[in-house]
Amino acid sequence: MRKKIVAGNWKMNMNLEEGIKFAGSVNNYFKEKPSEKAEVVLCTPFIHLAGVSEILRNGKISAGAQNCASEASGAYTGEVSAMMVKSTGAEYVIIGHSERRTYYHETDSELNKKTALALAAGLKVIFCCGEVKEEREAGKHTEVVKRQLTDGLFSLPAESMANVVIAYEPVWAIGTGLTATPQQAQEMHHYIRSLLNEKFGEDCAATMTILYGGSCKPSNAAELFSLPDVDGGLIGGASLKLEDFTAIVEAV
Ligand code: PEP
Repeated sequence: MRKKIVAGNWKMNMNLEEGIKFAGSVNNYFKEKPSEKAEVVLCTPFIHLAGVSEILRNGKISAGAQNCASEASGAYTGEVSAMMVKSTGAEYVIIGHSERRTYYHETDSELNKKTALALAAGLKVIFCCGEVKEEREAGKHTEVVKRQLTDGLFSLPAESMANVVIAYEPVWAIGTGLTATPQQAQEMHHYIRSLLNEKFGEDCAATMTILYGGSCKPSNAAELFSLPDVDGGLIGGASLKLEDFTAIVEAV
């Protein structure tokens, strides 16, 4: 059985007070109605992480960051290292989100360094991949995802894949209200699993969690999560509303 995960990506939303209050509400909700089937993760801005981790301590929900530095430590003003993220009590970090790739020009080789550092620091990595609209329209979506995974992830040892979760997020579906059709999502997830099989073998391919992300909401979550190769979701906008986020977790 593969682990199912629903991870919220708060992006750059909520000030510290609002974030702490919201994490408390999510935590209280799942204390009363524990999520039996899915692990729940809240990926917050850096400044929220220590406070949110403290609130979630002893509970079943984990905290995660949305990024970390591609260097271990030193003179990198404004950066936050994987070790620093780990020291807050966070367990996860998102690496390679399309907003980081697009707006901050993060390259596959930088993402590879970030992933290696995050794993070395003892974090679990949610590694994002996905094509833009033009690449999908040109029929290049599988080629793009293959490159992102090959250059960003596949140089790492097979054992480290136990601490990696892949999130397939078609960029054209992120924050747009457009969602991949069940067929598009299943096809890509199945393709990613075939790449894992080729690179790391059957066991790894069968056990790795692959999340779908891109305008996932309560109305489409159940259908997407019931697909054979979809093991949960990475949720942006809908993770900021308690009712929507908890309904998506419950859709698992
Ligand atoms: C995301 O930010 O990873 C995401 C999937 O966003 P949204 O759910 O808002 O499309």
